[in-house]
Amino acid sequence: MYTKRILNEKLSVFHSLHFPYLTSKVSSHRHKTVIGIGGNIGDVKRRFEHLFFRLQKDKRVDIIESSLILKNPPFGYEEQDDFFNSIIVLKTSMQAKPFLAYLMRLEKKFARVRSFANAPRTLDLDIIFFDNRVINTEKLTIPHPAWHQRESVLIPLWGIQS
Ligand code: ADP
Ligand code: MG
Repeated sequence: MYTKRILNEKLSVFHSLHFPYLTSKVSSHRHKTVIGIGGNIGDVKRRFEHLFFRLQKDKRVDIIESSLILKNPPFGYEEQDDFFNSIIVLKTSMQAKPFLAYLMRLEKKFARVRSFANAPRTLDLDIIFFDNRVINTEKLTIPHPAWHQRESVLIPLWGIQS
């Protein structure tokens, strides 16, 4: 089901059925967005596959590509399990703000409970890029702050082609 490659004592990468994934199908949706997905409770790799399936069924988005899955240590609050992170590139005709609301609803469906900052989570969905837009509102910062400093984003992004 999965193949695992150890990068160093802290990092490993996993390949699963739809991670990585790349389609040559053309989407008619207007906006291209890169989302970061993460989690560290339960079977996260399985949840990623479940999320992929859900997105693939949804006409409001077209999945273009996904990255491999990176297992990496938590930051901020460190007394918790390692995180699994990946990247999904998709197209949508939603605007950025409704798209964020859409992602938050998806997180809820995957039973995410917000407790405290950097707390363990079942599924975290973050917008990393949205076209080439720059947004700085109270509820939405795009590009995602610190994306360029985080291994959890940078390593999965390396393999992205689209
Ligand atoms: P984090 O992802 O930083 O661990 P949360 O997932 O709990 O924390 O997000 C907290 C808030 O971050 C959300 O309610 C959302 O309004 C805000 N936010 C700001 N910019 C973004 C973004 N680019 N993607 C996702 N959420 C964002
Ligand atoms: Mg988030």
